[in-house]
Amino acid sequence: MRAQASISQSALAHNLSIVKHYAPQAKIVAMVKANAYGHRLNHISPLLENADLLGVSELSEAQELRQKTNKPILLLSGIFSNAEMQQAAALNCHIVVHNPNQIALISQAKQAQNVWIKINTGMNRLGLSAENYHKCLEQFQANPLVKITAIMSHFACADEPNHPLNAKQLDDFTTLTDGKNKRSMANSAAILSKLATFDFVRPGIMLYGVSPFSNNTYQLKPAMQLSAKILAIQTLEKGQSVGYGGTWTANQKTTIATIGIGYADGYPRGAQRGTPVLINNALCPLVGRVSMDLITVDISKITAKIGDKVILWGDEKISVNTVAKFSNTISYELLAAVSSRVSFKSCP
Ligand SMILES: *Cc1c(COP(=O)(O)O)cnc(C)c1O
Repeated sequence: MRAQASISQSALAHNLSIVKHYAPQAKIVAMVKANAYGHRLNHISPLLENADLLGVSELSEAQELRQKTNKPILLLSGIFSNAEMQQAAALNCHIVVHNPNQIALISQAKQAQNVWIKINTGMNRLGLSAENYHKCLEQFQANPLVKITAIMSHFACADEPNHPLNAKQLDDFTTLTDGKNKRSMANSAAILSKLATFDFVRPGIMLYGVSPFSNNTYQLKPAMQLSAKILAIQTLEKGQSVGYGGTWTANQKTTIATIGIGYADGYPRGAQRGTPVLINNALCPLVGRVSMDLITVDISKITAKIGDKVILWGDEKISVNTVAKFSNTISYELLAAVSSRVSFKSCP
């Protein structure tokens, strides 16, 4: 009775069409890092087939992705040695250049390189300073082996559309780039809030049907439905507790369903009492601690039996954002943490 993740192919295609709606002129780099935000590269063919490029964080991810698609791959962390540079080129990667060592490596390339130059505009993790960016541009433009595909940067606060850093980053970016080279700046939040689109957009979370904001007024459809089954039902008398540490005690006669999913599957151990799960179309509250293999839920108000399906997230009634809020984290972390013990399947 393993937990299951069903990946909706129509939802992925639909969410991609929402990107096209918001950024009709832009090419789409579908972000599929971290095994497609936990959805698994084997189950996201609508993205692999219909995006213009695919974005990953590191070379090992590019290698795995190359088995599944011929589309160009954007390598966000770039390359750290001559050998990696050659591997990346052989995999038809577009290489992000974000630090001065990488400028030097690319400048010595013996074969053609497709590069994206990343400028730091205020995120302050990756990206060239304005000074290094100008040097880089000069060197690369003089080098016939280097093709500059785009200049990029990344918003730090796009999920807070009114944050003053957004305007500042956008302003710095447009000041530094003249539009002669193609540009890329927008993640999901920037696309949906119409902060920026430029020539290439880089949607991630929205492709998986999850809003980067606390509301979903964008008609995104959740791509992953995570479900498990009721393994046992217990009746607790007033005063009896459930689970490790006995942290929850019944204050009246209570029916508890024990469900076959736990933190080893990626269900967050931090989920607080009251986190909803969906059983037979009714929301029921989590009680007691999340353990490695099991969770316990109060089903006193509904009818349910052993073997019934329990939806943890990915339904209209229960989004991964809700579970994230109850667990003091974000949807991204929950999706990326769905573990290999969960069985994955594609569904229409
Ligand atoms: C992950 C990532 C994105 C996508 O972000 P979402 O918030 O998931 O849309 C875009 N750009 C870069 C550089 C990223 O690392």
